[in-house]
Amino acid sequence: MKRIAIIGGGIAGLSAAFYLEKARRAGADLQWALFEKSDRLGGVIRTERHDGFVIEAGPDSFLSIKPDAARLCQELGLGNQLISSNDASRKTYILVKGQLVQIPHGLEFMVPTRIWPMATTPLFSFSTKLRMAAELFSAARKDSGDESVGDFVRRHFGQEMVDRVAEPLLAGVYGGNAERLSIRAVLPRFAEMERQHGSLVRATLRAKAQVRSKAPAGSKPQPLFTSLKNGMQQMVGALVAALPQASIRMRQQNVSLRPVNDDWQIESAGSSERFQEVLLAVPAPAAAGLLRQFHPGLIEGLTRIEYTSTAAVALAYDQAELPPGHGFLVPRSEGRKMMACTFVHKKFSHRAPGDKKLLRCFFSSSRMPDLLTHSDEALQQFARDELKDILGLNAGPTFARTFRWDRAMAQYETGHLERVAEMDKIIAAMPGFHIIGNSFHGIGVPDCIKSARLAVEQVTSGVSQPAAV
Ligand SMILES: Cc1cc2nc3c(=O)[nH]c(=O)nc-3n(C[C@H](O)[C@H](O)[C@H](O)COP(=O)(O)OP(=O)(O)OC[C@H]3O[C@@H](n4cnc5c(N)ncnc54)[C@H](O)[C@@H]3O)c2cc1C
Repeated sequence: MKRIAIIGGGIAGLSAAFYLEKARRAGADLQWALFEKSDRLGGVIRTERHDGFVIEAGPDSFLSIKPDAARLCQELGLGNQLISSNDASRKTYILVKGQLVQIPHGLEFMVPTRIWPMATTPLFSFSTKLRMAAELFSAARKDSGDESVGDFVRRHFGQEMVDRVAEPLLAGVYGGNAERLSIRAVLPRFAEMERQHGSLVRATLRAKAQVRSKAPAGSKPQPLFTSLKNGMQQMVGALVAALPQASIRMRQQNVSLRPVNDDWQIESAGSSERFQEVLLAVPAPAAAGLLRQFHPGLIEGLTRIEYTSTAAVALAYDQAELPPGHGFLVPRSEGRKMMACTFVHKKFSHRAPGDKKLLRCFFSSSRMPDLLTHSDEALQQFARDELKDILGLNAGPTFARTFRWDRAMAQYETGHLERVAEMDKIIAAMPGFHIIGNSFHGIGVPDCIKSARLAVEQVTSGVSQPAAV
């Protein structure tokens, strides 16, 4: 019988346990155990309910275009709980010189696809608008090496597009810095578009035309984001309910790991066990800590993956005058502490009771290196002060909640894919060893689930199955 250890009980570790359990119930000759350091499962996925509000502490949804998360929800029997973002009311603003300016229609991430909204938007200066038109004639870059998102966007559309669009959008997703993030690791689709077409505008227009021509007549476009009616925690709850509790070991503060012959020896909470496979489902710094006794090359690669810390401040209001839409982004150049604010009650239904409002403000250590030294009250006050300046919101919240995540957001900086390829070579020479989760191939919830699914496919490929009858 093959014994498999999973270290870390976030969405990656729980998904791995789910797929292993599914294989075991289908007759695969295996046994698994999950070791979680803390006293709760789900990692950064956590939902709180308060006075009828559904408050996400971490992720609030997943990208619909990436199928793994919705597929897992279906398998968990949560298909009828999936909800779509309210895209019809989607408007996002960028703070420019203290004023909120709507992102114009037809700007697909940072690529302009419609002439009139671009020509008339106050978001860009005349010279950036000229630059957008000229981009149609761009040729692909000769050098095929990696570069930062900032450099990439600057080459195509100039500095203003970096400052006002790329940087705040990426800060909203990664809590990071466009001048350091790798284009090939965080926006591979754009790097590929340039390789094939030179111009991103031409490539995007072409891709849109292809999608339109393939869509069945009258079909509705896929929503941008998907979530669960009662919050992302529903997914964690369903995963936990589907797993045998005896295989889950909580409060494992000091797990240690070492290779012994072809096996892995895990020591934790006074016991010592052998496993044939280990799935490390912890963030890269924790993975490096677990491996501290061996494989210096792997440890070096893991420690080079920077993580930023995040604080999310949720503020509930009985009444608040807000502009229509789902929220706003704050470019670094505005010199504010806040990076983004989501109007939660607008983005998804079922989040706030009646006409009440729920705002979620984000702060990151990439802008505030001392972020986590501030008290909850201080962070709430920063949020309230900036909401007052930006939205003219004077009313006090009926309640506030602050969630802090210490080094939880992986930053795929320039050269990330090359470093991952080096680490993959080392891992290939470590039989039965796998790294899943957000360190290597995507930080989104669907990416983490996919990494777990693929690792389980590898682990179970050699496991004996019951004879067919
Ligand atoms: C504030 C925030 C908002 C986000 N928003 C979104 C979003 O809207 N959509 C989206 O798709 N993604 C979002 N993400 C990213 C996504 O949520 C995460 O990348 C993903 O959930 C990470 O899952 P994981 O299982 O890899 O790691 P984690 O959730 O970090 O779980 C790791 C687990 O390992 C445990 N652990 C750590 N060290 C040890 C050890 N030594 N021994 C045993 N256990 C250990 C931890 O306690 C934890 O339970 C967001 C992230 C954050 C922080």
